[in-house]
Amino acid sequence: MKLIRVALPVPLARYFDYLLPEECLVVKGARVIVPFGNQRKLGIVVDFPTETEVPTHKLKPVIEVLDTQSLFDNEIWSLLTWAANYYHAPLGEVLQSALPIKLRQGDSTERTTCDYFSVTEQGHNALANGVLIRAKKQQALLAELVQLAKVFEKPTACSPTAWKALMDKGLLEKVDVPFIAQSWQQRLADKPICNQQNRLVLNKQQSLIVSRLHFHQGYGAFLLNGVTGSGKTEVYLQVIDEVLKRGEQVLVLVPEIGLTPQTIQRFQARFNVEIDVLHSNLNDSQRLNAWLRAKNGESAIVIGTRSALFTQFDRLGLIIIDEEHDSSFKQQDGWRYHARDLAIWRAKHKGIPIILGTATPSLESLQNGKNGKFIELQLNARAGNAQFSRQQVIDLKTQRIYAGLSERLLAMMKSHLEKGNQVMLFLNRRGFAPVLLCHECGWICQCEACEKPYTYHQKSRVLRCHHCASQHIIPRQCGHCGSTHLITTGIGTEQLEQTLSQHFPQFNITRIDGDSTARKGSLEQHLAEIQSGKSQILIGTQMLAKGHHFPNVTLVAIVNVDSSLFSTDFRAEERLAQLYIQVAGRAGRAEKQGEVVLQTHYPDHPLLKSLLTEGYLSFAEQALSMRKLMGLPPFSAQVLFRATGRDNEKVVNFLQELTACLQQIITTPQWQGFQLLGPINAPMAKKAGHFRWQLIIQHAERGLIQQLLNQFDIVREQFLRNDIRLSVDIDPQDLG
Ligand code: ADP
Ligand code: ZN
Ligand code: ZN
Repeated sequence: MKLIRVALPVPLARYFDYLLPEECLVVKGARVIVPFGNQRKLGIVVDFPTETEVPTHKLKPVIEVLDTQSLFDNEIWSLLTWAANYYHAPLGEVLQSALPIKLRQGDSTERTTCDYFSVTEQGHNALANGVLIRAKKQQALLAELVQLAKVFEKPTACSPTAWKALMDKGLLEKVDVPFIAQSWQQRLADKPICNQQNRLVLNKQQSLIVSRLHFHQGYGAFLLNGVTGSGKTEVYLQVIDEVLKRGEQVLVLVPEIGLTPQTIQRFQARFNVEIDVLHSNLNDSQRLNAWLRAKNGESAIVIGTRSALFTQFDRLGLIIIDEEHDSSFKQQDGWRYHARDLAIWRAKHKGIPIILGTATPSLESLQNGKNGKFIELQLNARAGNAQFSRQQVIDLKTQRIYAGLSERLLAMMKSHLEKGNQVMLFLNRRGFAPVLLCHECGWICQCEACEKPYTYHQKSRVLRCHHCASQHIIPRQCGHCGSTHLITTGIGTEQLEQTLSQHFPQFNITRIDGDSTARKGSLEQHLAEIQSGKSQILIGTQMLAKGHHFPNVTLVAIVNVDSSLFSTDFRAEERLAQLYIQVAGRAGRAEKQGEVVLQTHYPDHPLLKSLLTEGYLSFAEQALSMRKLMGLPPFSAQVLFRATGRDNEKVVNFLQELTACLQQIITTPQWQGFQLLGPINAPMAKKAGHFRWQLIIQHAERGLIQQLLNQFDIVREQFLRNDIRLSVDIDPQDLG
């Protein structure tokens, strides 16, 4: 028997040793099934130790070896081991999160077999002799099929009747072959990589950037700072074209809600290569196939959200992060990695360029531009004939208001709508109203598990907690005084829709938020209503803000910004500024002049003033100098310890103990400069019945934070509790 060391997906920062029969062959990176307590678990082999601390009589043998080869290539293996180290996450969890679910469940890595076909000799003859001349569809299909490889899968878009006819006539036959992976180049056959007719003629700034990247070799992080509508996507497409021509593959990461059908169509229309889109509608087999296709070099482009970063490639040549500032690139549970930061690491170690595109760079990336880590590229004019929008602020204090809409805004909407244009309204709150209260005594109907008001949903006749997703029936009476006089206060998108349908009965409304798009395919359907002009008034939460291109929208309004102006999170202003610019970017994207309106009770707020009069970059400069003054990121690094549990007192005591332990480590002089903030209540002090406390540690040097965490890791197992969960968030994005 020999020893093997296995990483298991358990929240412990250590490995587990097992016995393996001598004759069994296994390599690092392969999956094994092992006994764990009285369970079986799937683990990844990480080492072959010669000795172990486990007493011999306690060592157990491996149950099964699943792979003869590693599932991880060297590149991804070093990325994941580095990441597990940096984020202080158990390697077992990290490795498995990089695998498709099917592989985590122990499925085989063989491609799920599907049927293969081939054109028969008779079929080739039929085509040559024009036998099918009167069956146009069959003729066309057969002509298409002979262009494919000798053996092919049934194309997804083909007429079922024509297919059946060809099969029945014996022109096409099913063949029994083991799966043969075909590279994307082989699949392309004689077709060109890029459909030239769709290519736009670049403007001067765009072409400078494309040629800059063309002549670049090796690693480089390019911050492509281009105003909304400046043609960043066109730049991506033309850079990708050149990478593909070198026979290399491309990874494109987009925000969670940025996977717009429109963007995907643009990629598909431009290239004839195999593109895999990792969207949330894929089932587990499709995900596994997509993963294998990229690894084997069968697909040329992979487009996906955060976790697509862990896709393995045969020959990766370029990474693109679209909307690099977007906070959805940060994983918010489990091991909390930042996909942008890891993508940069990956590009650096692979020696390839990475493009970070955005109209509103994160302050972190701007700072990296200043200190020379990123190369800044600018696109500061709108592409084509589009012009910048006119902006104005409506002071709500001076206006009559109908369900959150000022008279002035309603008048503007009317004038835009009557000219045949579309109008878009943003309100970051779904439901009808955020609060239901008693008019007699002020009692608020709240979720006990979160101690926050329920949101009133009129259409589905229910109260919902937006923090824990629990539901409650709408009470008839006040829970305190028994009065039946219950009223709502505040406004959500549902109410906005109702009010607007009364004001503008002659126009159609499309609402896009978490409720209206919950059903599969409904987002696509709503977007189509907007594209086709079927609806003229568009209401949405920030889901609607990103990436969409609606040429007929001429007026965009942000219904209320006031809550973001007074947030306790130091990133709130940056987020608001980014949202404002994104939203404003939806107006006037084509030939028509756009107008952007913002409603607030605080028109003189310095943030709004600098943003509106001087623009995002000038806002960002001011925000950066403020951060510097206060020693906040990016001028320092942070780590957030959060403890949650059902017993409030236990959670506080636990975190106090942990704080004391850390404080003890940093008493000696070499540990100067640490700031410990807490334990304090998390901004969301209770959620789904769990009390939440947190401790933030900050230091100007990232390296020292890492050293402190390494020290902490040594004693970390002392802080394992059954009734308390501890999470450690490195470079936290969300302090809520
Ligand atoms: P971004 O990604 O920066 O928001 P897009 O690439 O979506 O911008 O471009 C915005 C619009 O401008 C699109 O309709 C696009 O077709 C058009 N466009 C981009 N580049 C050019 C160009 N060089 N000439 C004409 N139109 C362009
Ligand atoms: Zn009451
Ligand atoms: Zn709740």
